[in-house]
Amino acid sequence: MRVLLAVMRWDAPTLHDSGPARPRVERQAITREFGDITCYEVSARTAIEAVPAAAELPYAWAVSPYRGCQTGCRYCAARKGHRYLGLDTGDDFDTKIVVKTDLADRLRRELGAAKWRGDAVAVGLNGDCYQGAEEVYQLMPKIIKALADAANPFTVLTKSPLILRDLPLLREAAKVTRVSVAVSVGFVDDRLRRGLEPGAVSPQRRLEICAALNEAGVPCGVLMAPILPLITDSADHLQATVRRAAEAGAVTLTPGVLRLPSGAREAFMAWLARDHPGLVPRYEELYGTGPLTPADYRARIASQVESLAATYGIGRASKQWKRRRSPDRQLTLV
Ligand code: SF4
Repeated sequence: MRVLLAVMRWDAPTLHDSGPARPRVERQAITREFGDITCYEVSARTAIEAVPAAAELPYAWAVSPYRGCQTGCRYCAARKGHRYLGLDTGDDFDTKIVVKTDLADRLRRELGAAKWRGDAVAVGLNGDCYQGAEEVYQLMPKIIKALADAANPFTVLTKSPLILRDLPLLREAAKVTRVSVAVSVGFVDDRLRRGLEPGAVSPQRRLEICAALNEAGVPCGVLMAPILPLITDSADHLQATVRRAAEAGAVTLTPGVLRLPSGAREAFMAWLARDHPGLVPRYEELYGTGPLTPADYRARIASQVESLAATYGIGRASKQWKRRRSPDRQLTLV
């Protein structure tokens, strides 16, 4: 995770005129520059968004304070969204961040609406909610408070140690509703991390975040994604990751094989061609023109991870925890 924003100069905001060469989002936003990062400040039209079934994620609803992500994971499925803003899915996704500055206010209104049923929401799907921009904008404390005041269950997804800043708030929220965190650790090889997740802290540091949250009483699991076909899907790789997650006290483990929707596919395949050129034809064969590997391959990997998780005892604590909390409002993270 880059932490550049903490030390960058805060320039005066600039309202840009519309013009044909400018990205669409720039015409509707206040633009702030922080070194090589551009932030577009916008008003949130919607706070709680439905997660499309095609995303194959264990979440039905999401709250995303940021679009775009300085962590810059090559495989990020959210890259595609930048196209709709008039931005590209490559460098723009990593350096041009949309910031929904009034998201917490909007969220409070939506959580209080009669039609909202109090379902669990995932926070941080379209961009890490604790990326560098959060050091400047500090949207997450207000979002956590809004969710806690409504006693609405939620899960935070992140790779960033900045979440530990909000540990006291998460603990308070956990007294009134079901709160959990999922730290994404698809593999524990730090060389791979440098190429594929250039703005993220090491897998080891992420596992330490997981341990710190669990020790503080905020249940934290590991989102074991992406598992990379032919790279990190060997028995040894899977075992190493599951073992380290167990050592960190992960209460849940959710495996996910690499998905390559449009946007992610271009960025990931460029990395693959550079670092593993011999695998390019095999990936093309495995994925064809779609975003997914064959169903039987995914089922085999899920079964292997499930078996390893059972061996290392992951999930036992969460099952006890789940029984203590209203099961009818559980998120499907397992
Ligand atoms: S941290 Fe998450 S949201 Fe950010 S680039 Fe990586 S996968 Fe995408």
